Order: sequence, then structure tokens, then C-alpha cells
Amino acid sequence: MLPYGRQWIDEDDIKAVSDVLRADYITTGPKVDEFERVVADYVGAKYAVAVSSGTAALHIAVLALGIKAGDEVITSPITFAASSNCVLYCGGKPVFADIDNLTYNINPDDIESKINGNTKAIIPVHFTGQPCDMDKIHQIAKKYNLLIIEDAAHALGAKYKDKMIGSLSDMTVFSFHPIKHITTGEGGMAVTDNEELYNKLKLFRSHGIARDDSTEPWYYEQLELGYNYRISDIQCALGISQMKKIDKFIKRRKEIANKYNDAFKNYKNIIIPHQLEDCDSSWHLYVIQLLQKDRDEIFNMLRQEGIGVNVNYIPVYKHPYYQKNGYDKVVCHNAENFFSGALSIPIFPKMTNEEVNYVIDKLKNVLDRG
Ligand SMILES: *Cc1c(COP(=O)(O)O)cnc(C)c1O
Repeated sequence: MLPYGRQWIDEDDIKAVSDVLRADYITTGPKVDEFERVVADYVGAKYAVAVSSGTAALHIAVLALGIKAGDEVITSPITFAASSNCVLYCGGKPVFADIDNLTYNINPDDIESKINGNTKAIIPVHFTGQPCDMDKIHQIAKKYNLLIIEDAAHALGAKYKDKMIGSLSDMTVFSFHPIKHITTGEGGMAVTDNEELYNKLKLFRSHGIARDDSTEPWYYEQLELGYNYRISDIQCALGISQMKKIDKFIKRRKEIANKYNDAFKNYKNIIIPHQLEDCDSSWHLYVIQLLQKDRDEIFNMLRQEGIGVNVNYIPVYKHPYYQKNGYDKVVCHNAENFFSGALSIPIFPKMTNEEVNYVIDKLKNVLDRG
């Protein structure tokens, strides 16, 4: 089965990891700092905190903002559940604003309509790697005094108006799960330009414990209720090695997206992903909309042809956990419409042109057949 996404690990990555295994540190050591520096420089942020997953990065980011019971945080329903679960972890309430019909990203006007006295923050998600309308979201945040955590799990290397995603908001979070642009096995990172937030992120990463060098060398104190969300030197060595290939990875993703665009732009019953002029997507996913066709039927036919298509995403509030915890009356019409016709087709840097053509041929084939 051709997967819809896959990591690219080469001999340099393997050597980088085995070098660490032969060295002194295998958990928190020099590779963590080095990886943080490499990613922070790449995305244009001052500070970075690497952690055990993108979900952990979201959690410590929400903790760093001080979100607690009674606070509301607005996010998109078309995302992985972690984008809103991180608010629940802190006792806060995720509120879903509907998506824009063209980009499938959160609609700023709908964000504004969901703001009330309890709203504290916005978590825009750069779905598929195309940046959200960040100027409008920043305007809203300023007007209502809200903070912004960008969920950029899909958007490492993406640009908004020539600025790197990671350089725009209070905090930005990345994931290094194997399906994402670069991998550390499992891993994530929160970046920020704000020193105070940076110090909080570091505290929450490691039990809320800080060392105080001004007293005894053995002295440390727990200041917050933190977690063990540390990432290892083994993983960070892999991440550093992967970052050397990030430009190549994104270039290949764009090539594949362009091939799909060319193949399907005039094709009946398919909407290709609309791209805004001032956004430069890093193409984590290639999501088409199927019109007048049964998505599930097409899905099954493609799976039978060995193509690992996927559906990203079920609107988060539709999950049973959310339904039984107060979200059963929530409706985001655009998100539900989008979901009913959405199909992710394979895109990953290691995909060959033959594989891309195979997907194009088979998809055209099943559409004509249906
Ligand atoms: C992958 C992903 C996450 C979570 O990242 P993990 O590293 O898997 O914990 C969060 N948000 C979005 C949109 C994602 O795609």
C-alpha cells in the first residue's frame, strides 16, 4: 500500500543517531540545545523548547498562557484533536469557529463572533501547510486582547507574506511525528520571541522544576506543576540531521502538489486545494474535495488499488468524547460540508514520479468509472 505520508530516513540520519548512542548523553544533552537552535533559526524565532511530541508542545504552550477552568480558547474543527485537547488538559473550554470555504482554514469573522468575556486565546491551525489569514487573526487578537498559539504541525517551512511560520505570533508549535515534514520519531517544539513565555515553557517541560545556581549546587525547586515532556539527544540528533534536508523535502512536496494541480485543475467533480497568493504552503497534505460523488466509495476503490488515501479531518467536536462532553449542539456548517467530500491523496518527499502518476491515473479512473 502506498501510504498517504511517510518519513525519509537516510544513512546520514542513521549515523547521526548512532553517534549519539556512542556518546555520553542519550537523554537531555547538547543535541537538544542544538536542535532547538537549528529550528528556531530556520523559522525565525528567538527561543525554542523541544519536547516529546507536538501534543506536549501544545500542552505546555497553553499552560504557559495560564489557561485555566472558565477560560475559552478558539480553534478550528478541521484539525487533529490535539489542537483542542490541549485546552481541555488545562481545564479550559475549546470553542470551535467555522472554516473558510476556500482555504479550509479557520474563518477570522467566525472567530470574532465566538469571542466573549471568557475568551483568552486563539489557536489557528495551518491546515495542510497553507497559513491562516494571520493579519486578520492578529487584528482580532489585538482588539480583544487575546494571545495566539499557532498550531503549525502541518506548516514547518511555510510562509505567510514572505515571513516564516514560527516568526509571527506569541507561540508557534511544530510536530516531528514521522508523517510531518521532518521527524524525530516522536517529538515537537514550541517557539517564541517572548523570554517570559520561553522560561515557562522550559519549566512545564520538566516537572515545573528550576535550578537555582545562586545557592547550593544541589538545590532545585519545583515552582509549577509540570510534566516530563523532555525529548532525548537521540531524537534531537535525528532532528538536526533531518533539518539539513528540509529545503529538499519541501521542494519535492511542492513538485508533487503541482503535478496533482495540473492533473486535476480542469477535472470535473474535483476541487483542488485553493492557494492564496500571499501564502506559501509547505504541503503537508494534499486534500481534494469530491463533488457529486460518494467520497467513501471512491476512498474504498482507491484503497483497493493500493493507494493509502485518508480523510483529514472529522470535525473535532463530532468525536464521541466531545459529543458527550457538551459539544453535541455544536454545528460548523462549512467544516461538515468540507469533511463529507474531503480526501487526502498521498504526498511525501520520497514519492517517485511513477507513484504520483499512478495515483493520478487511478483517481481519474475511479471517477470516470463511478
Ligand atoms: C500531528 C499534529 C499534532 C500533534 O502532534 P504529535 O507530535 O503527533 O503529538 C497537533 N496538531 C496537528 C494539526 C497535527 O497534525
